[in-house]
Amino acid sequence: MSPRDAADLWPLLEWAKFEALPVTLLGAGTNLLISDRGVPGLVISTRRLRHLKIDPETGLMTVGAGEPLPKVAWQAAEQGCQGFEWAVGIPGTIGGAVVMNAGAHGGCAADF
Ligand SMILES: Cc1cc2nc3c(=O)[nH]c(=O)nc-3n(C[C@H](O)[C@H](O)[C@H](O)COP(=O)(O)OP(=O)(O)OC[C@H]3O[C@@H](n4cnc5c(N)ncnc54)[C@H](O)[C@@H]3O)c2cc1C
Repeated sequence: MSPRDAADLWPLLEWAKFEALPVTLLGAGTNLLISDRGVPGLVISTRRLRHLKIDPETGLMTVGAGEPLPKVAWQAAEQGCQGFEWAVGIPGTIGGAVVMNAGAHGGCAADF
């Protein structure tokens, strides 16, 4: 399943809870090998969960789990926000980067 927003996502989670199914969230799959036996339960791709807002006053970024990490890094730089440059070459989504604590060039997700 690939929900577009929270309104799409919540009923899926409620259904999985009702059916007592395990839930697995996937980002862009850049750090995954999936067995030929598949993944049990409900698999949710976050790739359509996209929104990106940067507050120019505070530099606070509000980002959907499925936003591509390089895009977020570029937009932060374009808006004059420093500190996210390390992320520009790492494939995957913001959600995946947080879970994996992605990092490069001396920076990582946990720092932010
Ligand atoms: C060419 C290449 C270069 C890379 N370079 C780097 C690098 O320099 N540094 C680095 O750290 N990594 C690197 N990686 C690894 C990978 O890109 C990162 O780990 C990335 O953060 C994974 O994001 P993803 O969206 O693809 O996650 P996925 O591969 O889809 O998922 C990874 C794990 O996170 C979980 N997950 C994903 N999204 C969510 C979510 N929203 N909520 C809960 N769980 C979630 C998944 O269930 C899975 O367990 C590289 C990979 C490739 C292919």
